[in-house]
Amino acid sequence: MSRQSLAVLKGVGPKTIQALQHLGITTIEDLLTAFPFRYDDYRPQNLAELVDQEKVTLRGVVVTAPVLVRFGRKKNRLNFNLLIDNQAVLVTFFNQGYLAEKVIEGAELTVFGKWEAARQRLMGIKLLSFNKQEQLAGVYRSSKEIRATQLQKLVKQAYELYHGQISDLIPGKLQKKYHLLSRQQMIHDLHFPADQLTAQAAKRTAVYEELFLFEARLQYLKQIDQQPNGLKLNYDNQQLKKFISQLPFELTPAQKRTVNEICHDLHRPVHMNRLLQGDVGSGKTIVAAIAMYAAVTAGYQAALMAPTEILARQHADKLFHLFQPLGINVNLLTGTTSAKSRQRRELLQQLAKGSIDILIGTHALIQNGVEFKNLGLVITDEQHRFGVNQRQALRLKGNEPDVLALTATPIPRTLALTVYGEMDVSIINELPRGRKPVRTFWLKKNQLKRAFSFIAEQLKQGKQAYLVTPLVSESEALDLQNAEQLLTDAAKFFAPEYQVGLIHGKMKSDEKEQIMTDFTAGKTKILVATTVIEVGVDVPQASVILIVDADRFGLAQLHQLRGRVGRSSTQSYCLLLADPKTDYGRQRLQTMTETTDGFVIAQRDLELRGQGDILGRKQAGLPEFKVADPIKDLKVLETAQVDAAEIINQSNFGKTTETKPLDEYLQQQLQLELGFD
Ligand code: ADP
Ligand code: MG
Repeated sequence: MSRQSLAVLKGVGPKTIQALQHLGITTIEDLLTAFPFRYDDYRPQNLAELVDQEKVTLRGVVVTAPVLVRFGRKKNRLNFNLLIDNQAVLVTFFNQGYLAEKVIEGAELTVFGKWEAARQRLMGIKLLSFNKQEQLAGVYRSSKEIRATQLQKLVKQAYELYHGQISDLIPGKLQKKYHLLSRQQMIHDLHFPADQLTAQAAKRTAVYEELFLFEARLQYLKQIDQQPNGLKLNYDNQQLKKFISQLPFELTPAQKRTVNEICHDLHRPVHMNRLLQGDVGSGKTIVAAIAMYAAVTAGYQAALMAPTEILARQHADKLFHLFQPLGINVNLLTGTTSAKSRQRRELLQQLAKGSIDILIGTHALIQNGVEFKNLGLVITDEQHRFGVNQRQALRLKGNEPDVLALTATPIPRTLALTVYGEMDVSIINELPRGRKPVRTFWLKKNQLKRAFSFIAEQLKQGKQAYLVTPLVSESEALDLQNAEQLLTDAAKFFAPEYQVGLIHGKMKSDEKEQIMTDFTAGKTKILVATTVIEVGVDVPQASVILIVDADRFGLAQLHQLRGRVGRSSTQSYCLLLADPKTDYGRQRLQTMTETTDGFVIAQRDLELRGQGDILGRKQAGLPEFKVADPIKDLKVLETAQVDAAEIINQSNFGKTTETKPLDEYLQQQLQLELGFD
């Protein structure tokens, strides 16, 4: 069932297919598992049970002729009275004048709408036809291109055609153990529940299923990785030791430990798939560099992919300085290395010949035409910024290269182990010696001048500063205005002694490069930035960061931003400027002033999110689920991990009738991910 194309459905043409695709729905399976996020109750209620401002359904007889009032060309209001339980209720529809012809005196009608108790009025949302009565109707995530009601109909059609082909993915043993529904029943009850309780029960099964499949997929990948067909990188240990001893600083014990873990993996003929986790500023880059050096001494090429061009360029600069004296050829490839240029053509030729040892870049690395001679090690920096597909695509540029993923996402260990289950995890759990925690202050928005004065003091001591403004509005133009306003204010305040630079995502890349170069070299002392500097930027002599409208950022992002300073042994400062309007906002800022420990912040983040609005789960580096919530459902996730491991690792997995559907499902998923489809 799963890979059936949507084109088999009636009324689905290329346009609808595209619209569905934008919602992440490409197959019948996707459609049947795109569950409603809530249900509208279409069962008529009595007047006595109605609750003010809730959505309700009423059925009654039309007792007055409808009155249609038009204002302007498009706007209108339709009023009529319904007799319900011997009481007349006013029904009002806005801008649905075409309904007037259905509203006939004496006819029985069912109306869904919002109840206004004070005026005893129903604000009509829609008129229901007879077959819609007596049930809950799922409300689907929809878009401008495809409406919720159309989705509803497509789901119904798909279910009618394919429900016979829905097989259980969760083995019967587990189904019984947790009293779960069959997959068919679950899918039925989530789309067409008889009542809210039925829907809730089905959701319980769906949450477990989603987490179980997620963990099963990770286990499955891990098992494939364990097969002894990986590369054995025979690196030169003497050379490696010498390289490490000549670094400008001594590695921290945690760095040494992680280097050992990685080298151990490189050397085994097993495929390495390792996550290097370490708080911002803990020094992941140098560990990655050592791994790349090892790969090169073993006669292989290495690639490093970074999520932004600024970061890729910074890595390239640093590694170039580090490796050039050793005769190692480091190169940079980004999207702006224009497609047809001679420079790019030559670079790709050298890469294919093997005369480039280390290639650094953005997503450009995974484009067609980028071919390595013998890629032995693949590294992704800030890995949560990349999708599974992109990471896999990079890996496929080589013949089973070893993989190292760097992340600063300080998610708690239990969660890390469950969501990165397919990877081995190395943790850098300390900062380089002599680092002082960044002192953090929270100022009111009208204290900008005071913040500037403080920054001026730092500049006098030869330090540098970031001034950050958030990307908040829908319109980039408006955000840019904010950044430019800040630039103007700062330029006025700091003139004539100091130049202020501006950097934002919309700039051309050579412009960005120039601005970063000037800042890194200390030519400009102050840099106004949108969040383009959020990840990875490393300018150790910057000692103060001012974050304007800090309440617009999530905790994870604030922590990342603050990590731009405190990268040397001098005292650094973070100034948060904000007048938060919610408790949640105040608590986030409070947390920032209380701790600089990424793990504590992550924990606090999860607690706070639990209560309040959700500020981008993605930001926290968590995978996105359809029905499950990896935080609220952490217990289920942990259980699912244990269950999945047990099932996948049993020797007859895929050979019994119980596990065959799961095996087939996972194989299909894997093929989809690897793009073989
Ligand atoms: P992150 O883990 O956030 O990517 P980086 O790798 O950018 O951190 O390192 C932060 C800064 O610390 C860099 O300037 C780097 O040169 C420096 N650094 C890394 N390791 C050490 C160390 N052992 N001792 C002193 N400085 C270090
Ligand atoms: Mg980094």
